[in-house]
Formats: sequence, structure tokens, C-alpha cells
Amino acid sequence: HSKITGKGRVTHYDTELNSVRERQVAIEGQIRSGLEREEFDVWYQPIIDARSQKMVSVEALVRWPRRPEGPLPPDVFITIAETSGLIYALGQFVLRRACQDLEPYVDLKLSVNISPAQFRDPDFEAKVAGALEFSRFPATRLQLEVTETYVLENPERARSAISNLKAQGIAVALDDFGTGYSSIGYLRRFNFDTIKIDKSLAGLVDRDEQAAALVSGTVRIASALGMSVVAEGVENEKQMKLLRLAGCDQLQGFWYSQPMPIEAIRALRQQRQC
Ligand code: C2E
Ligand code: MG
Ligand code: MG
Ligand code: MG
Repeated sequence: HSKITGKGRVTHYDTELNSVRERQVAIEGQIRSGLEREEFDVWYQPIIDARSQKMVSVEALVRWPRRPEGPLPPDVFITIAETSGLIYALGQFVLRRACQDLEPYVDLKLSVNISPAQFRDPDFEAKVAGALEFSRFPATRLQLEVTETYVLENPERARSAISNLKAQGIAVALDDFGTGYSSIGYLRRFNFDTIKIDKSLAGLVDRDEQAAALVSGTVRIASALGMSVVAEGVENEKQMKLLRLAGCDQLQGFWYSQPMPIEAIRALRQQRQC
């Protein structure tokens, strides 16, 4: 409840802060019991090869459909899982489930989001290896998506983790490129396989010439560094064509498909025969 200030008054600021904190604590407890009660699912969004227009990979995205208090978007509960340390268990659940689900689809790769907090775990690389072994999923079909925050937080740890993962055969992608500092310096220092251009940039190519020029520039930089480029947030045909023309290797967005359960991915492949 609200904190009483020295003068015996409850300030608006304190009341708000306390209710935010209370909500976080409540959600922490819900995540913990949600993990025990298996309320979480993993859905998959197709990633399409720009040339062949075939599904070549999927991105795993966590969902919480059986939360008794109602739905909550992942960026909200992931943030709370990060600050409370529950991200280790949630992250491991996503990784294991995704590897199990995708294991039979030998021609599809799998991309899994990793929180900066997960890399603070010195056993992170070993846990990834464990999840692969558990589901007999080949390392060469797995890609991990990390954000700039992670690279900035601890550059030395980032460098060693990336090289350890790559030594196992796992690919590493820089997610949400174009939202932060997005310096060419990081791209040179960290040996990413792929750059994922955020939807806030890629999704503007049909409306904003500057955004289109930035996408083309990113493709050229990536190509000079031997990295491939995925454009996120492709929502219409015009964007798809422009992003393909700009040289993006792979495309992802609602124009192709929303994230969906693994059964729907299977149905989609049968229907499109891809
Ligand atoms: P992200 O990794 O950048 O994932 C892409 C997000 O964009 C997903 O939102 C996806 O549903 C959404 N998206 C895809 N195509 C389109 C489009 O055409 N238009 C629009 N407007 N949106 C599109 P989602 O699933 O809500 O996830 C949000 C973020 O939460 C993710 O961003 C990622 O940062 C985080 N997240 C989701 N699942 C996990 C997870 O298992 N682990 C971790 N650490 N983070 C996750
Ligand atoms: Mg991602
Ligand atoms: Mg992204
Ligand atoms: Mg994101």
C-alpha cells in the first residue's frame, strides 16, 4: 500500500510507484506458478526466403494463453521475468519446447530470443547445449537472437558467449536493429551471422524514402561484413517488394503470417507444399 511521506502525506508519485511495484510482484508470482502449471506456450512465426518465397525458418515467440488473470503480451511479462530472475526458467522452457517442436521439420531452422539477463548465467552456453541434446536438435539449425542491450551490458561476456555458441555451430542474430544506437562498431566487433532490421524501420520502406535508404545501407554494411539480413514487420506487398529489392535475404511479418502454434505451421506447409 501507499507510502506515507515524512510529513504524513501520501504523494501521488509514491502511490503510483507502489502500485507499479505491487503489480510487478503479483505478476512475478503468477509467472512462477504459471511455469509450474504449464500455462505458457511457444508459437512460431514463419521467416521467408526473399528469393524463393519459401519458409526457411521460424522465430519462437512465447505466449501465456492460460494465465488465469487474463492475457498479457510477452514484452510485459518477459521484462518482469528478467528483473526477478525467472527468465532463466522461462528461457529454458522456451528453448527446450521450441527444439522439441521443430525437431521433425528437418528443412526448417529455428530462431529463439534470448534476454540479456540469460547471458549473465555463466552456465548459459552449457544450458543451450543441454536443451539441444535433450531434444536431439542439431546445433546448426539453431539461431539465437540477442539485442544491443546485451552487447552493451557486458561486451567481454558477449564476445566470449558468441564465440562459444558459434563454436557449437549455433548462429547468432542481432535483433531489433535500427531501434537503439545500432553502431557499425558493434557489428565489426561482434561476429553476428544475421542482422534483423526492426519493424519500426523496415515497416516504413513504402512510406519513407529515408527509411528505405537506411535499409539499403544496412544491407550493404551487412554484406561487407559477411552477415545476412532479415527484415521484420513486413505487412503489405509493396513493403515485401521494396525490401526484396533492397537486398534483404529473408522477410518476416504479418503479410506472410502471424505467429501460430506448431500444428498450424504443419498445416501451412502441407497446404503450400513448402
Ligand atoms: P521480437 O523478437 O522483435 O519479435 C517480433 C515481434 O514482432 C513479435 O511480437 C511478433 O509477433 C511481432 N510481429 C511480427 N510480424 C509483425 C508485423 O508484420 N507487424 C507487427 N506490428 N508486428 C509483427 P511478440 O510476439 O509480441 O513479442 C514481442 C517481443 O517480446 C519480441 O520482439 C521479443 O523481444 C520478446 N519475446 C517474445 N518471445 C520471447 C521469448 O521467448 N524470449 C525472450 N527473451 N523474449 C521474447
Ligand atoms: Mg526476435
Ligand atoms: Mg525483433
Ligand atoms: Mg523486439
